[in-house]
Amino acid sequence: MMSLRLPSIDGVLRHPACVPLLERHGRESLLASLRQLLDELRSSVLNGQLSAVEISPEVLAGRVGERLAQQQRSHVRRVFNLTGTVLHTNLGRALLPDEAIDAVQMAARYPLNLEFDLASGKRGDRDDLIEGLIRELTGAEAVTVVNNNAAAVLLTLNSLGARKEGIISRGELIEIGGAFRIPDIMARAGVRLHEVGTTNRTHARDYEAAISPRSGLIMRVHASNYSIEGFTARVPTAELAELAHRHGLPLLEDLGSGSLLDLTRWGLPAEPTVRQALLDGADIVTFSGDKLLGGPQAGLIVGRKELIAKIKTNPLKRALRVDKLTLAALEAVLGLYRDPDRLAERLPSLRLLTRPQADIFVQASRLQPLLAEILGSVWQVSAVEALGMIGSGSQPVARLPSAALCMRPQVSKRLRGRCLLNLEAALRALPIPVLGRIDDDALWLDLRQLDDEPAWLAQLSHLQVDP
Ligand SMILES: *Cc1c(COP(=O)(O)O)cnc(C)c1O
Repeated sequence: MMSLRLPSIDGVLRHPACVPLLERHGRESLLASLRQLLDELRSSVLNGQLSAVEISPEVLAGRVGERLAQQQRSHVRRVFNLTGTVLHTNLGRALLPDEAIDAVQMAARYPLNLEFDLASGKRGDRDDLIEGLIRELTGAEAVTVVNNNAAAVLLTLNSLGARKEGIISRGELIEIGGAFRIPDIMARAGVRLHEVGTTNRTHARDYEAAISPRSGLIMRVHASNYSIEGFTARVPTAELAELAHRHGLPLLEDLGSGSLLDLTRWGLPAEPTVRQALLDGADIVTFSGDKLLGGPQAGLIVGRKELIAKIKTNPLKRALRVDKLTLAALEAVLGLYRDPDRLAERLPSLRLLTRPQADIFVQASRLQPLLAEILGSVWQVSAVEALGMIGSGSQPVARLPSAALCMRPQVSKRLRGRCLLNLEAALRALPIPVLGRIDDDALWLDLRQLDDEPAWLAQLSHLQVDP
């Protein structure tokens, strides 16, 4: 038998199918991809495993085209978050309002006064761009902004407590996802941890007994992702602040999510507000930009002027500072808070968090027959009530009454798990991947965040589920 020969690189390149590829991807990428493909095929050809058609220039050009298209596809991709968790850390947390998106575009496209004072014509400070708004919205004397709240905590601890002791309750030595543990951050900030009290109960006298000439600060951390119930005791912030100040120590409060407004006005679970923490006497409060605030990823450090000034002169501040796109988005989002009455219409995170269950249920009922038809008789599809979460550590035990499309495979118990994983993978493989959650032998798509129903529906016909 005569062995086949792979076409030469030139042989494939001359094929008309390569013309559009050359146009789209450029000569260098096309050559590299083609060379790689031919290298991979060489041994199979020698072993006689491929037919003449399989190595024809036309087929090879097609394969190279698929590869290039695959490589060109962006790795940052839009998804549908139907997990039921609104501020999902793995899915990008808060969605920005149009006002912020416009501001980001402007900041991306043009030079701007990032560190330039247009009034005096002198060098400015990027924090000044939002200081006025933050002061108005929180009552703080001053502000500085960094890359995220983890950075805010690190920078604050290092600036105010390095080589001294930081006093903190054992009930607040928490771990937040992604290897952020308060004791580790304290150590990296150069603050010696002095833990007081017990996991469930810490009293004012515990803090008092820990204070010594070595003390640098008292820290309070909002236990955002878990809750302690039952026989518990916690010193109110006002009392702790009074105690700290009596001994000349600053009180830091890491609120985590923190909210600028009282969320109960929208029927959401109460979350401590930044203003209240400051009123209670916290000297510095830190919180995230992309949790309940509903803005871009950022860490806000607000509080007493002289402490903020000290934090700003720490060389670490330069390493942790925010960029212009973030600041532009943050200013736009903060601007919306000046009109609380319309905030729930304008801020996507708040709009989604406050979407009434009845609305979501109507949507689920409308979509149920369409999905049932596409999935066929193996699946029982129903519109049901469901419970979602705020996410990002806010109110870990609170549930948001919502509605979902619930898909149960009508197969034997033995096959159910595999069936569910197949459907989950098929939804993930859609042009805009759809992410739900598997629970109780069913796949749930919580529709609270299904805003763009047309785009979701348009791609359903692509759904291919292995039986
Ligand atoms: C979320 C959170 C952080 C970390 O904030 P990031 O903005 O994710 O860096 C720190 N402390 C608390 C209490 C939190 O809830």
